[in-house]
Amino acid sequence: MQIIDGKKIAAEIKAEIANEVKAMIDKGEAAPHLAAVIVGDDGAAQTYVDSIKKNCQTVGFTSSIYHFPADIKEDEFLKAIDFLNADIDIDGYIIQLPLPKHISNDKVLAHVDPAKDMDCFHPANMGNLLLGKDCYKPATPHGTMELIRRAGIETEGKNCVVLGRSNIVGKPLAMMLVQKDANATVTICHSKTKNLKRICAKADILFVAIGQPEMITADYVKKDAVVIDIGIHRIEDPEAEKGYRICGDVNYNDVAGKCSAITPVPGGVGPMTMTCLLLNTLTARKKRQLTINS
Ligand code: NDP
Repeated sequence: MQIIDGKKIAAEIKAEIANEVKAMIDKGEAAPHLAAVIVGDDGAAQTYVDSIKKNCQTVGFTSSIYHFPADIKEDEFLKAIDFLNADIDIDGYIIQLPLPKHISNDKVLAHVDPAKDMDCFHPANMGNLLLGKDCYKPATPHGTMELIRRAGIETEGKNCVVLGRSNIVGKPLAMMLVQKDANATVTICHSKTKNLKRICAKADILFVAIGQPEMITADYVKKDAVVIDIGIHRIEDPEAEKGYRICGDVNYNDVAGKCSAITPVPGGVGPMTMTCLLLNTLTARKKRQLTINS
């Protein structure tokens, strides 16, 4: 049984990015610049943004954090987005979601310049993804695809089941699997799917993104299938040193004995998300350099 090591693969990609950045700087070009926008004081959001900063440092990117109070008015926030869109020193940025209730997520995401939309949440970028055009790809599904590609998991002609239909994970992942560079046969499941176990147990590759800690047990899995766990949760565990443990949507211990390959949590898909955010920023920087040179 193969344990797919996302930490190792993410480190390899980051080393490749760092080499490209060094070559850019040696040529006198600017380092890629990724900005992150955070509204309010949510601890998890702050941790993610801190991690962006740290990862940018690791690969030689410039990073900026824009922190706004939770009571910022929607029109003021949209003006701040205008500023980021216009700033020629920023290659791309992400907006940490969810935003406070009085700010419309849809309005804000549509306001982001698609060329700087590193999360690929803008409708134009989502549309290009659906059309199979060359475009930024959302970090988690992109990371998932890159992880299995580098781990040597073939998708062509495979029966792939994607559990979850969110706009940030399930739907774009299914869309990427069905494109002609992946050629999978795809079934998408959600909370209203009937006979879920039976459908999952037919999958050659089962992708799980449902936000339900350890729900997927061995009876959802075909023998020798590949299981990709995208879920991530911190659950209380009095026996753990820190009082909690990290787990996915898959019951790893139950499933591991039945499948041919599996991603662990932590250390599977998780590290790939950040890495793909960096990859999008590198792409944005290269596109900007082409404009400067032309
Ligand atoms: P959402 O809550 O937005 O979507 C969950 C999806 O799963 C929905 O489509 C929902 O169906 C479906 N679902 C929920 N419960 C069930 C069930 N019992 N049976 C079948 N389908 C079900 O979650 P996200 O897509 O944002 O995230 C999914 C998981 O991935 C989470 O664990 C999250 O923490 C993790 N995640 C990990 C990332 C990483 O970097 N590794 C990044 C982003 C997310 P319906 O549409 O009908 O409600």
